[in-house]
Amino acid sequence: MNELTVTSQPRYRCPCCGNKGLDCPAYQHLWMNVIPRGFPIPYHTHFGMLSYQICGCCGYEFGAEDDPGPWAIGLSFEDYLDRWLAAGGIWFDGKIRPSSWTFEQQMQDLAIVRPILDDHKSLSSSESWKGKAPAEP
Ligand SMILES: [Zn+2]
Repeated sequence: MNELTVTSQPRYRCPCCGNKGLDCPAYQHLWMNVIPRGFPIPYHTHFGMLSYQICGCCGYEFGAEDDPGPWAIGLSFEDYLDRWLAAGGIWFDGKIRPSSWTFEQQMQDLAIVRPILDDHKSLSSSESWKGKAPAEP
């Protein structure tokens, strides 16, 4: 089975917000169900070829937000997610937002992967988003 085939049921996680809505991996070598934290941007230097997809949930564009060119400042997944939650967690594509969606639920059962320098904390499941939720409108 070709891993990069576009299916009617998207199954790749957004490495920023954890939403399982991508048609192919955000970056070529990023494992499924893995959320990278603590890696310096741009991410293609760690995770290979980028997809330029835009997450329908948080709106992160892989390869653009983290590598916007010399005249803009890139945003890591962590920084982007903090801003997105602070702004109310509005879905980029509101039409595909499940009515029962919660950010907490979306972030359950995900593995966190960190750079090898931070080895003692790798694959921890309790992370900085705990206690954070989209601000009430
Ligand atoms: Zn996302």
